[in-house]
Amino acid sequence: MKYALVTGGSRGIGRAISIKLAQMGYYVIVNYNSNKSEAENTLNTITDNSGKGEILQFDVSDIEKTHSALDTWKHNNPEKHISTVVNNAGFSSDILMVWMEKNIWDSVINTSLNGFFNVTQHLLTDMIVNKFGRIINIVSLSGVKGLPGQANYSAAKAGVIGATKALAQELGKKKITVNAVAPGFITTDMTKDLPEKELKKMIPINRFGKPEEVANLVGFLASEESSYITGEVININGGLYT
Ligand code: NAP
Repeated sequence: MKYALVTGGSRGIGRAISIKLAQMGYYVIVNYNSNKSEAENTLNTITDNSGKGEILQFDVSDIEKTHSALDTWKHNNPEKHISTVVNNAGFSSDILMVWMEKNIWDSVINTSLNGFFNVTQHLLTDMIVNKFGRIINIVSLSGVKGLPGQANYSAAKAGVIGATKALAQELGKKKITVNAVAPGFITTDMTKDLPEKELKKMIPINRFGKPEEVANLVGFLASEESSYITGEVININGGLYT
């Protein structure tokens, strides 16, 4: 059995990815930060459909707590290793840069960019030793194009894109692929306050995407079938930006 870690698996896109990977036969470690009941809901959906997994709390922006949680998991499961990690945990805190306080800048960078490092770097040795790995980073249209009011979020996601390309070159020979998935507008808690009626007019497919649609792409990247794809940033945005 293969083991996958999905950060921010309690809600939205991360939940759909966790369910998809479990359907593919992965044992899924569903990480969450504060919303335990939603993480349990994700796990219940997995187990109700004959899948396997567990929930694991840690804040990806806190390197000590992240390492401690992953080390405890490894200590309790010495024969197992996490071969697939989906760095999905993230949030936005939008404001024009002219009014952006340092703490707003830091909070978004710390979660998306430093969170990616805190989790991924700690899992690399096991992947290298076992000569297989899938690292999938959920970035954003905002990191590809840049969006006003999101200098912090665009910078964090663009940083992860740069790291994706660099790490793919470091790990290719070890049969570890590293890719990024860049969603446009997807219906989740993160986008629930956006004016969907107005925004969808700009989207050629004329609607927001569904978390399951992102999960299907991630599922492919997590599979053996995607072995020759690495260092890529794959847009999934209904044609909004190509
Ligand atoms: P969401 O519904 O708000 O869910 C966010 C998830 O991230 C939750 O599971 C949350 O855990 C977790 N999380 C947040 N901060 C965390 C931390 N410090 N440590 C651990 N977990 C943390 O958001 P979403 O829309 O599914 O977004 C998922 C990813 O897709 C994010 O990286 C986001 O930037 C990206 N994205 C989303 C969209 C979109 O339109 N929705 C578009 C582009 C990219 P709790 O439940 O415990 O709070």
